[in-house]
Amino acid sequence: MSILLTGGAGYIGSHTLTELINGGYDAVVMDNFSNSSPKALERVEELTGKKIRYYEADISDRNALEKIFSENDIREVINFASLKAVGESVEKPWEYYNNNIGGTLTLLDVMRRHGAKNFVFSSSATVYGDPAVIPITEECPKGTCTNPYGWTKWMLEQILIDMQKADNEWNMVILRYFNPIGAHPSGRIGENPNGRPNNLMPFITQVAVGKLPELGVFGNDYDTPDGTGVRDYLHVVDLARAHVKAIDKLRENPGCFICNLGTGQGYSVMELIKTFEEVNGVKIPYSIKPRRAGDIATCYCSPEKAEKELNWKAQFGIAEMCRDSWNWQKNNPDGY
Ligand code: NAD
Ligand code: UDP
Repeated sequence: MSILLTGGAGYIGSHTLTELINGGYDAVVMDNFSNSSPKALERVEELTGKKIRYYEADISDRNALEKIFSENDIREVINFASLKAVGESVEKPWEYYNNNIGGTLTLLDVMRRHGAKNFVFSSSATVYGDPAVIPITEECPKGTCTNPYGWTKWMLEQILIDMQKADNEWNMVILRYFNPIGAHPSGRIGENPNGRPNNLMPFITQVAVGKLPELGVFGNDYDTPDGTGVRDYLHVVDLARAHVKAIDKLRENPGCFICNLGTGQGYSVMELIKTFEEVNGVKIPYSIKPRRAGDIATCYCSPEKAEKELNWKAQFGIAEMCRDSWNWQKNNPDGY
């Protein structure tokens, strides 16, 4: 019995694959490598001592999916496959809706044809838009996304909820990630963005390694203690472990289960820079820039539901996240 990880060569997928294999679960990967490299899978083999079965294929490719499902005994799917650059999604909405929603609908159809009705979905804090209440609980208002990427997450959540309502053989675990950063403590796998990073931590590490001259801090006039944006950063290994718990949850036949994944602690851009400098002994030159369009002041979650009902709690703090992000970047300055 195998778990299929779509997008399993990506940042969160490769860490989850490692945790699943180390936990004694059997996994198969499919990835079109549009934002990743098969080298990540070689590194997972190195870390786990296990051969990884993988298919280079797209989740929109029905024939490829049929082949994967007929060659493997798949009961559960964790769907990481998605395009995820917020800015690009504004420029190319069709590509985002087609890849993320179209692809997932094809995947779900092949799954049900093969009687594999257990699904874990990578959703995002972005579904809460500009949150009405902090800390954000699962019941907070949703569906006020500011970009097509966010809408794909919100629309897919609705599709999964409706499908489960209509056919209660389905089990859907919807995980709303806050801000994953960090890397495997070995420094062998980590985040490997294409081109100029959009997110804060990969930008910081690329400045630290000398690939970029300085960091732009997007706004210091927010209504936060130091004026810079506050987010709920989460170590990617903790996030990976939450997916192992999600598989255990699926095996309890929960129907539809939705929860936030974060630490419940907010840190500002300036706090993250300062911690990174202190922990790693490197300087991060920065300058204050205008606010980035669509950004919000503060976003952190209530992790209570995950703790009580998924039996998961983040173990790593911000210092470990900074240490492991830097360990990955300095050992792999050009990525894989
Ligand atoms: P990533 O880009 O590193 O991984 C996604 C993987 O999916 C890549 O390996 C890519 O090649 C693959 N892929 C994309 N489209 C595909 C397709 N049509 N068919 C097959 N493979 C395809 O991204 P990540 O950071 O690991 O994110 C994993 C998931 O988590 C995504 O769904 C993302 O939207 C979601 N998420 C990420 C974050 C974050 O900050 N990293 C936050 C919230 C949610
Ligand atoms: N940010 C920044 N400079 C950058 C990238 C991000 O100041 O080069 C800030 C951004 O405004 C936000 C925080 O860092 O307050 C986290 O941004 P990121 O894009 O990593 O995640 P988001 O929460 O926006 O998805």
